[in-house]
Amino acid sequence: MAGKNLLDKVWARHKVRTLDSGQDQLFIGLHLIHEVTSPQAFGMLREKGLTVRYPHRTFATADHIVPTDNQKRPYQDSLAEAMILALEKNTAEYGITYFGPESGGQGVVHVVGPEKGLTQPGMTIACGDSHTATHGAFGAIAFGVGTSQVRDILATQTMAIAKPKVRRILVNGRLPEGVGAKDLILAIIRKLGVNGGLGYAYEYAGEAVRAMSMEQRMTLCNMSIEGGARVGYVQPDETTYAWLAGRPYVVDEKAMRAFGEQMSSDEDAHYDDQVVFDAASLKPMVSWGINPGQVVAVDEPLPSLEGFPPEELESVKRAYDYMGFSPGELMTDKKIDVVFIGSCTNGRLEDLREAARIVRGRRVADGVRALVVPGSQEVAGAAEKEGLNRVFSEAGFQWRCAGCSMCLAMNPDKLEGRQISASTSNRNFMGRQGSPSGRTLLMSPSMAAAAAIAGRVTDARAMGGIK
Ligand code: SF4
Repeated sequence: MAGKNLLDKVWARHKVRTLDSGQDQLFIGLHLIHEVTSPQAFGMLREKGLTVRYPHRTFATADHIVPTDNQKRPYQDSLAEAMILALEKNTAEYGITYFGPESGGQGVVHVVGPEKGLTQPGMTIACGDSHTATHGAFGAIAFGVGTSQVRDILATQTMAIAKPKVRRILVNGRLPEGVGAKDLILAIIRKLGVNGGLGYAYEYAGEAVRAMSMEQRMTLCNMSIEGGARVGYVQPDETTYAWLAGRPYVVDEKAMRAFGEQMSSDEDAHYDDQVVFDAASLKPMVSWGINPGQVVAVDEPLPSLEGFPPEELESVKRAYDYMGFSPGELMTDKKIDVVFIGSCTNGRLEDLREAARIVRGRRVADGVRALVVPGSQEVAGAAEKEGLNRVFSEAGFQWRCAGCSMCLAMNPDKLEGRQISASTSNRNFMGRQGSPSGRTLLMSPSMAAAAAIAGRVTDARAMGGIK
């Protein structure tokens, strides 16, 4: 009989029972909450006279609506202020630890969880945010959930969910210099499609994944949802344990390692599907359309309509129409107006270092508005200690406070009109960055930095400074 994969093992360990609906009731080891999807859930708790079952397994931070230019309270936006006040009240009332802007530990929820050591191998994790799969980088099974599930988890520390199948994504060989996790995940989504992962968990494996840092693994897992997968994960290994060692919530490193090893996929584990990628053939990627599967290599002409299956044609035509681009064009001919370096995909220290290597000693092109938004206050502090803030500021970037910023633009950081943004975030949907007609080009931190300097999409590898 074939062995078990990590998802099988973690699932078996956390399953409470099978429900009449056919779903499983799953115990959630860690529940992360933020200001946007929690207020209604707390309201529902109160309505039903319930309380928070395990407050010590619930942690909060504020990210989506937090302004990144001036965090002085009260916030100018009264709605944002009301949301923060509600989070403060709810966490205080129910005894939940809250990493607020005044704590020094605030940031994007998927940056804060790992950096505090809350995210650990073999856990089940849930958060009312689509990009919770990020935590899978540590060998956790991490779900993005809706408000009613946030309520259920607050009340019971469990939720109802169907067990996904597991697709192993085997990335053989090493990524070439100047090609990173963001390029790989965009290439994966392009090949498998934005709905290709429906019903699946993605287990990322192979030499290229093993060689990745934890920051790169987080970038990889973060965008699993953009390929339709409910969760994405990487097996824990020495890189994982070393990264977590000494973090505030890692109280017993030996026990963490033992559990991680116990939960890891067996050598002969069964998978429902496997897809193989050749890392060495990849190039820096850039999105040209309105979903993260509509991407090309930086030197590749935009695809012709004939290359798409009939069921995709309408969405491809809509993408060309919205973006104002045409088949055969090169993305390197596209001028950009705004650069956004940040988000839970690429707002960590390593991402900022990668961008800074390109930016150092250069100037942002005339007319380009460029923002660097650290993923957390801790990232900001570490970057400032290294002088990265000065590198960016001297080049003409705005160095901002931690938050989601222009990833979703639920705060004052927004595109205007038809502006084109070179963005390290994860979604290029129509209107995603705050302007109903704004255009987003997804790319890696080095590619975004290179775009800021050149004023157009450009191959960062040609600018040197790449590792
Ligand atoms: S950075 Fe973007 S994707 Fe990540 S949690 Fe914030 S809004 Fe969501």
